Amino acid sequence: MKGKVPGNAYGKQQEERSGFNMRCPYCQFDDSKVIDTSHDSHGGIRRRRECLKCGQRFSSLERPILSTPLIVKADGAREEFNREKLERGVRIACAKRPVSAADIDRLLGQVETGLQKMGKAEVSSRVVGDMVIKSLKELDQIAYIRYAIVYLRLDDLQSLRNEINRLLAG
Ligand SMILES: [Zn+2]
Repeated sequence: MKGKVPGNAYGKQQEERSGFNMRCPYCQFDDSKVIDTSHDSHGGIRRRRECLKCGQRFSSLERPILSTPLIVKADGAREEFNREKLERGVRIACAKRPVSAADIDRLLGQVETGLQKMGKAEVSSRVVGDMVIKSLKELDQIAYIRYAIVYLRLDDLQSLRNEINRLLAG
């Protein structure tokens, strides 16, 4: 059966609840009837649809994805989270230290996942720096100090000594 079919009202209701119209990939008509709905193991919703114009069947898949918030820099500019850029800084701090590539990869993964779990649209770059520095502290104290010199701007020996004393005391 093609064109208007009974059950259309049901399909319509589903569309409105899911908040979008699904365009037919065959004829581009932007109304379809939902004929079956199922859930996949990733929390996604798969809808089997039938185009109300050409009658072709197709499926749509709606799946939640974790997105990484935008990073707000000190000057207020926004930028995409850049794992490679972060990795460069961490690698430099870990140069010639007994820190494996897998360790660095895990650290970066933890930071990225941590940011995603916050569920925020934007996060200050300080938050990212704080996460890196906290993880580095547990990983390797020399790498931590190297990173801290840049990140915490430990630009004189006194503040560097204070930080080292804190580490030795802790
Ligand atoms: Zn169609």
